Amino acid sequence: MKKVFLFILVFLALNDLYAQSSNKWCATQLTDDMRDEFFARRVVNKARREAMKSASVMQYVPIKLHVVRRDDGTGGIELQNIWDNLCEMNETFNLHDIHFYVVPDINFIDNTDFYTWEYGGGEGDILMENYNVSKNVNCYFVGNVTGICGYAFFPGTGPSHSGVPNSEGGMVLINGCIGLGNSTWQHEMGHYMALAHTFEGYGGGWGFPENVARTGPNANCSFAGDGFCDTPADNMPDRWNCPYMGTELDANGDAYEPDPTLYMSYADDVCTNRFSDSEADAMMDALIGDRPYLLSFEAADPNLLPITESIVTYNPVSSAPSNYVEFKWNQVTNADFYILTAMRTSGSTIDKLIVTTIDTFYTAIDQFSFGNNYKWNVKPMQKANTCYLASPWVTFFANPPIIITPPSAIEENMGYDDFSIYPAINTNNEAFTIHWNNASYADAMITIYDAHGSMIDITHQPIGQGNTELNWNVAKASNGVYFIKINAGTLQAVRRVIIH
Ligand SMILES: [Zn+2]
Repeated sequence: MKKVFLFILVFLALNDLYAQSSNKWCATQLTDDMRDEFFARRVVNKARREAMKSASVMQYVPIKLHVVRRDDGTGGIELQNIWDNLCEMNETFNLHDIHFYVVPDINFIDNTDFYTWEYGGGEGDILMENYNVSKNVNCYFVGNVTGICGYAFFPGTGPSHSGVPNSEGGMVLINGCIGLGNSTWQHEMGHYMALAHTFEGYGGGWGFPENVARTGPNANCSFAGDGFCDTPADNMPDRWNCPYMGTELDANGDAYEPDPTLYMSYADDVCTNRFSDSEADAMMDALIGDRPYLLSFEAADPNLLPITESIVTYNPVSSAPSNYVEFKWNQVTNADFYILTAMRTSGSTIDKLIVTTIDTFYTAIDQFSFGNNYKWNVKPMQKANTCYLASPWVTFFANPPIIITPPSAIEENMGYDDFSIYPAINTNNEAFTIHWNNASYADAMITIYDAHGSMIDITHQPIGQGNTELNWNVAKASNGVYFIKINAGTLQAVRRVIIH
């Protein structure tokens, strides 16, 4: 029992801080008991690990994205930085049979306290307690903090959430450290899958220093430092730039030669690009053994058929009413969903719109401000491939708003439950269908109003119980919002529809 408790303690203590300028945080000493427990696992799991490796089966791992912004919705990470970074991350992890895929939708958390977080303030833990989605790698993107790029929880540690105690953890990532060429996400993912720093044990930290020697009586690489013999002894527990120019000797007089290409070192991002084979084995071991729930969430066969068509934006082209903007684009074969982004050309993130949708259109109501210029684009997305390019930005001007509220006398009668019209959003100029669930009324007067409340059509037609095609030429109607009022005897009802 004592050993189990100590084992948990050591992982709690490993909760990582990836410092940009100075790293004094990972100063927890590893007792002999703790260290023995940690490395014993790798010995015990060796056979399973090697079986996994020889099977070479790609493991698909779901990532849930949580974008933290200020209360007013500003400050969120530029999503393209997430897509670029994830694209690079998959290139590396694919070499080791791990492939990450995005679970839509993106969770936006508008909370200034969380956005302007401080490490040690507990905000990261509170985020995970409140927002973690079970059976996903929960990644939180927050505002910049000086000297820190992020932290992750080792397997078996982290705050409780949804009644699951001490469970699935996650990671907090700083916006400024995410994007093409950055390695923080890869580094934290390494911790999340049980990897220690390559310099662990050097000048503090847990464990004890690893000797430079790989073989012979001075070799201790299998149980000192990070516990891996294919990662050289590392004497650089602070940010450093490659190549290594130091001359320091270890206790046996051997010269350190730390490897700046390893993600789990503190070498600058531009230097890092890989995990060692032993590190990769340990990550797979952690995935299968410690985090199997990640592999049970969704059928592990994400769509990876290539997207070859370009995405084309149709509307708006140059201007639109500020309170009613209809976005349209083409359907792209093999896209799982689309991400529409619209924002001011001035660079302000006020009015910024981000929509995740499986449709090829979106109507933004009351989203933009009259008198401003905006740009927008659409990115075709696959859950398992975020590398596809978005459409070029298109700009539009926000015109004065239009009135889209119908006369109040109509609005009051929205309610008759047994009357419906579909499709509610008509994109193919098909005839509307009226569904009427009252056998008593055979003759109806149907009035159609535009978004301004002006009557544009009126028709009498018999309505039977069930479905009836509405006598209105949709193809001649311009795109927009319409209100269809039906009067049948003493019953009256109104439904709002959209024609694209
Ligand atoms: Zn770290």
